Amino acid sequence: MTRPLDNKVALVTGASRGIGAAIAKKLAEDGASVAITYSASPGKADDVVAAIKATGGKAIAIKADAGDEAAVRKAVNDTVAAFGGLDILVNNAGIAINADIAAYTTDDFDRMVNVNIKSIFVAVNEAVKHMKSGGRVINIGSVMSETSIFPTASIYTMTKAAVAGLTRGLARDLGARGITVNNVQPGPVDTDMNPSDGPSSDMQRGTIPLGRFGEGAEIGAVVSFLASPAASFVNGAQIRVDGGATA
Ligand code: NAD
Repeated sequence: MTRPLDNKVALVTGASRGIGAAIAKKLAEDGASVAITYSASPGKADDVVAAIKATGGKAIAIKADAGDEAAVRKAVNDTVAAFGGLDILVNNAGIAINADIAAYTTDDFDRMVNVNIKSIFVAVNEAVKHMKSGGRVINIGSVMSETSIFPTASIYTMTKAAVAGLTRGLARDLGARGITVNNVQPGPVDTDMNPSDGPSSDMQRGTIPLGRFGEGAEIGAVVSFLASPAASFVNGAQIRVDGGATA
């Protein structure tokens, strides 16, 4: 059976759980060999790798804090060394340090910028060296980049707006090399970052016409489409996957 991502190699950052783990599993299901990164202990990342291998896929886990430039560059090169190339880069790793702006520290601000924005620049900067015959870059942003949904998230909103802008610029820069760059913008998705039974979950659910949080697999499906041959003319797009929250 031919699958859309057969013989492709993907790197998904921050994929030990949540949306990243779901993306990694879907890319593997669709035929890609997948490297995932994680920042803390390997336990959950190893579970993702084991789940992929259990269905006949190929996967490895690499420790790489997205805020550590050398580690991100090494993750790209370790992926190439393990699987012989790199075709698909999914910049998913992200954090949400949310607090009243009067209490926000410059250390918080710098960490948000390093993990949510700079890591994407670093990964792309390194990855394009290996995408000599084209490739796909998919950046996970947020509907928050366009719409402020709740207080305390000013800096998160800023970082995700930067992801949208970086995606547009990169789409123009890299198109001539056959590399497409797109921005998937999830709305509320049930994960550790945003549990569907958290303090603001009822308020968030109320914004969604479908009346529920999304699942990681519903983001993974869109990412896999963008990585597939069917999406060959999709470039520089911002694709909201939010159950209609921002409709
Ligand atoms: P999560 O906190 O559940 O998972 C985040 C993943 O990133 C984990 O695998 C974690 O280990 C990893 N990670 C965290 N910090 C890292 C670091 N410094 N270096 C490397 N890996 C790191 O979050 P999630 O909800 O799955 O979010 C994934 C992405 O989706 C993020 O970019 C987030 O901003 C975005 N997003 C989430 C939602 C939502 O409602 N959950 C909505 C919009 C966008």
